[in-house]
Amino acid sequence: MTALVRPPLLLAGLLLALAVLPLPEFWITLANYIGLSAIVALGLVLLTGIGGMTSFGQAAFVGIGAYTSAYLNLRYGCSPWLGLVAGLALTGATALALGAITMRLSGHYLPLGTIAWGLSLFYLFGNLEFLGKYDGLNGIAPIAIGPWSLQSGRAICGLIWVVVLGAALALRHLLDSRSGRAMRALNGSALMAESMAVDTARLRIVCFVLAALLASMSGWLYAHMQRAVNPTPFGLNAGIEYLFMAVIGGAGQVGGALLGAAVLTILKDRLQSMLPALLGSSGNYEVIVFGVLMVVMLQHARDGLWPLLQRALQRWVPPHAIRQPGTGSVAPALPQRLPAAPGTLLMQVDQLGKRFGGLVAVDGISLSLHAGEILGLIGPNGAGKSTLFNLLSGVIASERGEVSLLFDGRLQRIERLPSRQIARRGLSRSFQQVRLLPGMSVLDNVALGAHSRGQRGVVAAMCRTNRREEASLFALAHSQLERVGLGAQMYQDAGSLALGQQRLLEIARALCSDPTVLLLDEPAAGLRHHEKRALAALLRTLRDDGMGILLVEHDMEFVMQLTDRLVVMEFGRCIAAGTPAQVQADPAVLQAYLGAID
Ligand code: ADP
Ligand code: MG
Repeated sequence: MTALVRPPLLLAGLLLALAVLPLPEFWITLANYIGLSAIVALGLVLLTGIGGMTSFGQAAFVGIGAYTSAYLNLRYGCSPWLGLVAGLALTGATALALGAITMRLSGHYLPLGTIAWGLSLFYLFGNLEFLGKYDGLNGIAPIAIGPWSLQSGRAICGLIWVVVLGAALALRHLLDSRSGRAMRALNGSALMAESMAVDTARLRIVCFVLAALLASMSGWLYAHMQRAVNPTPFGLNAGIEYLFMAVIGGAGQVGGALLGAAVLTILKDRLQSMLPALLGSSGNYEVIVFGVLMVVMLQHARDGLWPLLQRALQRWVPPHAIRQPGTGSVAPALPQRLPAAPGTLLMQVDQLGKRFGGLVAVDGISLSLHAGEILGLIGPNGAGKSTLFNLLSGVIASERGEVSLLFDGRLQRIERLPSRQIARRGLSRSFQQVRLLPGMSVLDNVALGAHSRGQRGVVAAMCRTNRREEASLFALAHSQLERVGLGAQMYQDAGSLALGQQRLLEIARALCSDPTVLLLDEPAAGLRHHEKRALAALLRTLRDDGMGILLVEHDMEFVMQLTDRLVVMEFGRCIAAGTPAQVQADPAVLQAYLGAID
């Protein structure tokens, strides 16, 4: 089990040892608070660090978990375990409702939204009669496991750290899965992810609910550790502190949550005893120090302390073993679409149009694409080629016209569908402006293209019951990378590739979805001569396998040799169509396009 020797888990293991070693009570209490905060911060790693959604309101979910179990225990004598289930259910339902409203907000409206409901829930706790108003609830029963009552701080420390460890491990597994790869794309690459058949709106809510459930779990442990609850620890201040922990520790990584929780909890404890003595009066001075610390971190170490620690430890801790796909588990082949017979009509476009303000970018374009055909789309810069691609793939909505795609044996209209559904129906694409996740490996990036080929979700990922499917997805990504000639770069960060290679990565990613129609927007730009030759050979193979390829390209030699037919666009309109030879001889084309180049 190599996962257990990884640094964050090592850290957690050390802290778990606190529970069993004969350590002073003070250390145990500190470890408990670190653990409780770490559970909430782990949720923020997923939500903020990975998903890019900033929440100031997590403490409110801690409160829901704590109050639900406390109330059920005191009012109805329910066991804490029943309280846990009820707390998670109530938190889940609340998060779903809040998430459905707030997760749609963009930019700074989202954090503002989280502040709004964070405050509302805090005042709700403080004003409800049956929750004891601002005095809260007292005399909550401790958690019991069979005959063992976790009454002492030392006893519950073990449970807290089992939860921390479990959550950290589950989160690691999640991030290293089909859903996790898609979640990494939420932060700034949602458009690309949607084109890879990812339902990003749903995934944002999933991240939000998971983070809320972790917070609720922490609240449950807190209530039964303290044996009392009041609204103070569930207010906006606490919410901000949790966010500080995640950001200062390193919001992008699991270890960052643990480190941030440890650093801030210990620092808070030290400052609370030192600062008032130093300044001669009592007060929450530590908050000021946290604020300054946060500003310094944001300026000098945006990624938090965890990456710094990792770099410092590199000398002693060997880097992660790189995943070798297919090893250990057999990778069953994924189901494939039946290739259409050569010549079958795959896509029919009729009078498609799109305006941007006063500019008509695409002006009534009609074309058809058949199985086993490479259709070239050429035209000067600004002719509307990329816009046409965006219309066909559903990235932007058309204003008029129809697009039909062969799916399930018949042509079906797709011009009103969102891009993820068009992708599921077999249309895949690359982007003129390369869109990839630079910090992720080439292999992981390409595996994202196989999103629609897998089914296993978040729970399966966290429990690690997705390994067979993962092996299949990676075997597929592996073979597509070999196919486009990036086999040797598989384990590099995608951002380290040359631009031409990044374009090849996009083709491999598109191929992973088993498309019937492939849209390639300037795939050969930035490639060297021999790379272009290899790409042309690959596209011919794909064509011979029955795929329909729509190709935008400026390299005329490349286009003329490769394509079966050409469509020439200028100012959004089709000015010529035919075989490469016909188009080359067309006076309108010579005038508008080839002439312009010469
Ligand atoms: P091509 O790919 O053929 O070079 P584009 O499709 O990128 O051309 O652009 C066609 C025209 O539409 C250009 O004039 C471009 O400036 C404009 N355009 C493209 N996208 C947008 C947009 N999102 N908003 C406004 N104008 C746009
Ligand atoms: Mg373009």
